[in-house]
Amino acid sequence: MTDLAPDDPKARDALIAAADLVGRSGGKSFQIGYLHDDVPSEEAAWYAHAQYRGVRITAENHRSPEAAAEALAVQLLTGAKCVHCGRLVALSTAGAVAHDGTLIDGTPWTVEQARAAGQCLWKRDGARWDRVCGDEPRPPLSMNRAQRRARQNGRRRG
Ligand SMILES: [Zn+2]
Repeated sequence: MTDLAPDDPKARDALIAAADLVGRSGGKSFQIGYLHDDVPSEEAAWYAHAQYRGVRITAENHRSPEAAAEALAVQLLTGAKCVHCGRLVALSTAGAVAHDGTLIDGTPWTVEQARAAGQCLWKRDGARWDRVCGDEPRPPLSMNRAQRRARQNGRRRG
């Protein structure tokens, strides 16, 4: 992979992060390539492949190797279950969209299960994709001030 834009640290980070994510999620191989020779690099149709046991995930037709790598990582994380907390991976604070699917290890994961699991925000920080929510338990979002006060009063009484 040394011939793939190694001079640009940002591009390199995106490639390393995607390769690392594939490795951490149990992938057997990670491959970057392009379809067309003799064209400018951005027209070469870059692709990224991740090979898992029995499943191949592909991101195709990108303008650079790092764009293909990033798209592959996003594809892997979309609808995925966080290995740390078991929640649905969200790639933005707007939240994830749960859909019926199969996890990369072959386990079926339904919309209902994904919704019930809650969400875990993931983000790429330089050369690594990771969760940003941490393991801190959070209060339910629906709890308003009055409910919180009632709860505290209840605790004091008990
Ligand atoms: Zn998590």
